[in-house]
Amino acid sequence: MPPLVRRNLCILLVLLAVCAALGGLLLAAPMLRLAAPVLVAARAALVALLLAAIGLALAGGKGLKRSYAEIASVLAVLAAQEGAGPAPDVDGLDPEVVSPAVYEPLSTIGERINTLTRQRDEQKLAGRLSQKRSRHLEAVLRGLPDAAIVTDAMDRIVLLNQAAFRLLRLPAVDVKAMALTDCIPDRALCDLLRGAHALPACREVEHCVEDEDGKRLFSVTIAPLVGQSPQDHCGAVALLHDVTRERTAARMKTEFVADASHELRTPLGGIKAYLEMLIDGEVKDDETRTRFYRVMQGEVDRLSNLVDNILNIARIEAGIVKIVKQNVPLTAIVQEVVEAMQPQARTVGIRLEHDVLPLFFHVYADHEMLRRAVFNLVSNALKYTPAGGSVSVRMHVDEATGNVTVDVSDTGVGIGEQDLPRLFQKFFRVESSKKMAKGTGLGLVLVKEVVESLHGGRVAVTSTIGKGSTFSMTLPLVAEKQPVLATA
Ligand code: ADP
Repeated sequence: MPPLVRRNLCILLVLLAVCAALGGLLLAAPMLRLAAPVLVAARAALVALLLAAIGLALAGGKGLKRSYAEIASVLAVLAAQEGAGPAPDVDGLDPEVVSPAVYEPLSTIGERINTLTRQRDEQKLAGRLSQKRSRHLEAVLRGLPDAAIVTDAMDRIVLLNQAAFRLLRLPAVDVKAMALTDCIPDRALCDLLRGAHALPACREVEHCVEDEDGKRLFSVTIAPLVGQSPQDHCGAVALLHDVTRERTAARMKTEFVADASHELRTPLGGIKAYLEMLIDGEVKDDETRTRFYRVMQGEVDRLSNLVDNILNIARIEAGIVKIVKQNVPLTAIVQEVVEAMQPQARTVGIRLEHDVLPLFFHVYADHEMLRRAVFNLVSNALKYTPAGGSVSVRMHVDEATGNVTVDVSDTGVGIGEQDLPRLFQKFFRVESSKKMAKGTGLGLVLVKEVVESLHGGRVAVTSTIGKGSTFSMTLPLVAEKQPVLATA
């Protein structure tokens, strides 16, 4: 009991005992025959003592009430610890009124609360920081161009970025906490993610995705997500990187090397055979010898043409070709090519005609490259047109687009619809026309590269098997040189 309370109680008890004694004295007064003044004094003393006792009780009660109200407020704060600030100052309690048995534990609890509050604030701050970091990480994953899938230890979706939604063609719904197999229809991919828990480290595998757009090959990096200890598996992550183009390019490169070697070997084989016959003295007459030299010369030309084409295509593709662009009259180039090819056309009995624009139609181009492209188209038309046929080269301008087009049409063998899409692929030759003329399957590739990659133009082809083909190259005209339309 607090000292002040104890002292007040003692005084109260003494007062009450004296009051009882006086009361007894007054009750026994008739028997004791006390004098009247004594009785009056005893009554007055009794009243005074009673009043003092009442006053003391009231004052003590008030003090106690105030102190216990303080304790109540401290306890109320303790009870509502969550969300409370620092504990109230226990020193504010009057140790005279509050007993040490209450005061000391209260003070310890107050300190403990202050420590806990501080720790809680620190934890809150650390939590906010880690939330911020995880949001940042999530933003990185969401922004990745590669598809990212994150699962938890129970194989439920934690995160699926936009690229993953697109790749898996999923509707834009909230998939968080969905079972992996309910969300992702690709069973093989689900198995990869489920198997990731047992992996000691990240692993890279190839995975094929097939949809309406065709087959696409992905390099999938899967990694287990571990917690504090390596045994604490808390999920898996998979990143899917589209490697279709890289793989296609690698395959094309291998095919190109194989095709190029094959194409180089054919003329080399011919040269070697004729040379061996000449060296072995198998050729006795000059006429045969001259014929052999001519054949070898033709094969050497073919070889040099092939190497030139390969080099030019490779340089254009690598972006290192040296070209000098200037305003050139396209008509002059077409005329130059047609005139150069006339003797060959006459030899094989083909009518070669041209219908060109006036000279003032200019294109901004490399003269030699453009000449080569036109030459390849006219040369093909002559090669794949049987004797008695005709080849015509026409030019026209599209005023609306400001483009000029050169059409090379023939009445030749034509190209089947199934072969048209492959026509501009390296080394592609239409099987049925191979016996008509020697070729490399690179001429049209060069035309396309020159017109489209180097000059921003367009190449097109229309063909009917047995009737003939028209190859067109369209280029932008030089604006300031455009005159009023006229054809020659
Ligand atoms: P090539 O050296 O074989 O002529 P190109 O790349 O110039 O190589 O042509 C590829 C193939 O396209 C040819 O082998 C031929 O089958 C076909 N081709 C090209 N031009 C014509 C044409 N005017 N008429 C018919 N077929 C053609």
